[in-house]
Amino acid sequence: MSKTFSGQVALVTGAGNGIGRATALAFAAQGIKVVVSDVDANGGEGTVAQIRDAGGTASFVRCDVTRDAEVKALVDATVATYGRLDYAFNNAGIDIEQGRLADSTEAEFDALMNVNVKGVWLCLKHQIPIMLAQGGGAIVNTASIAGLIAAPKMGIYCATKHAVIGLTKSAAVEYGKKNIRVNAVCPAVIDTEMFRRAEATDPKKGAFARAMHPIGRIGQAEEIAAAVLYLCSDAAGFTTGVALPVDGGVTAL
Ligand code: NAD
Repeated sequence: MSKTFSGQVALVTGAGNGIGRATALAFAAQGIKVVVSDVDANGGEGTVAQIRDAGGTASFVRCDVTRDAEVKALVDATVATYGRLDYAFNNAGIDIEQGRLADSTEAEFDALMNVNVKGVWLCLKHQIPIMLAQGGGAIVNTASIAGLIAAPKMGIYCATKHAVIGLTKSAAVEYGKKNIRVNAVCPAVIDTEMFRRAEATDPKKGAFARAMHPIGRIGQAEEIAAAVLYLCSDAAGFTTGVALPVDGGVTAL
């Protein structure tokens, strides 16, 4: 790991909480300089404080990933601050309590597509030219097991995560010969605010979600962070275009 990562620079979106925060901390623990980004400044600054307290290097850039100009400014700020961009974890995403597809609304559709799909595409759009110019890099996008299998009463969220995998595979194929690897990580239920909010809204759905993992428990954000670091590392040098389930066995069912 240390050979892979020494002196490198990572950018993490949605890093003010949950999976993004855990991954920003994990990158920093490897000696990587981290740009922590989130639309929530308090959360993002909190992550930076945790990294600095642990002796790492990080800075916060506020960015709403749905806005082209803000994503461009985020990538520009990364290069201006640390000189390069080796690893990008495009993780910002939202969930919205939905009914079945026929009961879902246009506003829910637009909000979910905007953050989960357009946000990831805008990140790729602005990160890839930097990586092309410097001769390579590795990108991981956060999909979900809902990008691989159906998710009843989460149908639009499910469609957004399938789209993230489509973007991931296309980018991997388009830029493979340019030394840019692009993969997706597909978590099952992870113990973050996103899950806790959903569980509080619908305790029955929460109980079902807790019980569905063959491994007998829900996951921890640090377990997704470990997979992201693997996908970014030289150990995954021949791995691109994959959607890696980190799911306690759910998609094996
Ligand atoms: P979280 O709600 O704890 O964190 C998400 C972060 O993204 C927040 O800090 C939020 O402020 C930020 N964010 C939201 N909209 C944004 C925007 N427009 N621009 C920039 N930042 C924005 O959620 P989490 O569980 O850590 O989720 C992270 C990713 O993992 C999401 O893409 C989510 O869909 C995915 N995921 C989560 C689970 C789970 O069970 N928690 C399972 C599968 C996939």
